[in-house]
Amino acid sequence: MQTLLNNIAAEMARVTERGHVADYIPQLAHVSAARFGMAVALPDGQVFTAGDANEPFSIQSISKVFALTLALGKRGDALWQYVGREPSGDPFNSIVQLEHESGKPRNPFINAGAIAVVDAIMMGHEPKEVLAEMLNFVRYLANDASICFDHEVAASELEHKHRNASLAHFMKAFGRLKHDVDKVIGTYFHQCALAMSCVQLAQSGLFLVSDGVNQATDSRVVSAQRARRINSLMMMCGHYDGSGEFAYRVGLPGKSGVGGGILAIAPGKASIAVWSPGLDRIGNSLLGTRALEMLVQETGWSVFGH
Ligand code: GLN
Repeated sequence: MQTLLNNIAAEMARVTERGHVADYIPQLAHVSAARFGMAVALPDGQVFTAGDANEPFSIQSISKVFALTLALGKRGDALWQYVGREPSGDPFNSIVQLEHESGKPRNPFINAGAIAVVDAIMMGHEPKEVLAEMLNFVRYLANDASICFDHEVAASELEHKHRNASLAHFMKAFGRLKHDVDKVIGTYFHQCALAMSCVQLAQSGLFLVSDGVNQATDSRVVSAQRARRINSLMMMCGHYDGSGEFAYRVGLPGKSGVGGGILAIAPGKASIAVWSPGLDRIGNSLLGTRALEMLVQETGWSVFGH
């Protein structure tokens, strides 16, 4: 595994077309497209790494997997009154579908859906309580108490909030959000501003590898059924309108973020995190996808076989 990761990192270092670093959140634009990191965590606790695997970066929409897990724990199937389970086929920040489906977002991984999930988690609590709970949950999943929010990234996104604010107001107009719009999106921006390294991310995904149990820490996080369902949502919706392409090329449940990270789950095999800040036109990491494609090609880990 170590040799394979070294080869992938060497191959990625040779690529000159590295995509575009997101700049609609100005604080993200400072990160160099030259960065590349990868970590593979195995259920027995071993972690293999390459490149900048210990460098924290903004996980952005990857946090939606953890928020969904938390929300299902709190609300169970009632969560599906807030948000659907279908791929959207639209960009991550699209508003159009909301008008056709009375303000109910298609899935928990597009922005509108993730905002609705935050509203479902809040249950009358203040943002700082909800954020403390989210942070604790992610630290528990990754078994690493050093994980923090990047408050500068959160502030930067808040300053440029208009697109997400309009999604939230639009849902509120349909009576979909129970809490104050500013509190919901403020919480959402902080959730997206979690800073984690590839190693931490890969470790936090281990519960999805082994039917809801993190075997490395010997803790059951969710039921086997819930882990399977989260994985299926990641497969169908985790890369927005690029989910079909990701399934075609990589064939693993995965979740991307505009910080350039991807968390991918090879059920029964490994939790994989990759980071390269340059994005494709859909907003998914260009080299991250390529690296995962190489990994499944060599390991046969795609859920669809070799
Ligand atoms: N915080 C980002 C946003 O709301 C997350 C988007 C993403 O990672 N795709 O725009």
